[in-house]
Amino acid sequence: MATKKRKKKYTFKPNKNTLIVLVGLILLIWCISGIRSCTKYDRSLRGAPYAEELVNLPEFQVRACARPDGTPTADYQEIYPGKVGDKVMYLTFDDGPSKKVTPQVLDILKKYNVKATFFIVAKNAEQYPDLLKRIAQEGHAIASHSYSHEFDTLYADTESFRSEIFAAKESLINIVGEEHFTDIFRFPGGAFSGQREEFKEVLIQENVPYVNWNCLTGDAETRNPVPADLIAKAKKTAGTANSDSLILLMHDAGAKQASADALPGIIEAFQKDGYRFDTLKRK
Ligand SMILES: [Zn+2]
Repeated sequence: MATKKRKKKYTFKPNKNTLIVLVGLILLIWCISGIRSCTKYDRSLRGAPYAEELVNLPEFQVRACARPDGTPTADYQEIYPGKVGDKVMYLTFDDGPSKKVTPQVLDILKKYNVKATFFIVAKNAEQYPDLLKRIAQEGHAIASHSYSHEFDTLYADTESFRSEIFAAKESLINIVGEEHFTDIFRFPGGAFSGQREEFKEVLIQENVPYVNWNCLTGDAETRNPVPADLIAKAKKTAGTANSDSLILLMHDAGAKQASADALPGIIEAFQKDGYRFDTLKRK
């Protein structure tokens, strides 16, 4: 009887619970390996599904509107993905220049010795050409945010869109010269994955990259924003950007006094967190 019992003890008989444990273990191993392989990609800018080692391929430099593997895209964040460990903040201001807010923004940037990128509405620049010249002289990047910013005209059809791209570029170059114009576009209203695809095609054809943002102050979301809330939102959205390269969306239109008021706090907060500030460029 005792021998029989011992034999029974060593017989492996998989029951329902054993199978559940085995399947669970296999799933756990699969999940961990999946998370590990994804982490490498997620740490580059949002929408940049490239491993870090692809970033410095020679063809990366050749044509602006191509990914490192040569496939066409106009997405700046795919063409020039950020580098892991390089904590950089790109301050971006849309919709200016404005007589009221742009000079204050420039004064603050000068005080902190920080450079930013201005996505200019060209018809506003024609109204305030001296402000555009000041932006250029103080070392900031000047890029295009369309000629009119009027959605009905801009997005009427692809030819209308193309005309706005040309008109804005010509106008800005006329004021500050080609050397101070950075040929990067920001879509009024943004253009994330799946949005405005037919207009992205135009940008590929014209070799003009576009750039969205991966964090924001929310200064366009409420009528009377409070500066402290803008600073808090910048920090919060930067925290979920999942990238060391932050592109912060702000506005310097005449109604955005709160953005100028929030700017010192934003600069100080990110400086404290170890970020350097830089301008968006065609590399
Ligand atoms: Zn805009």
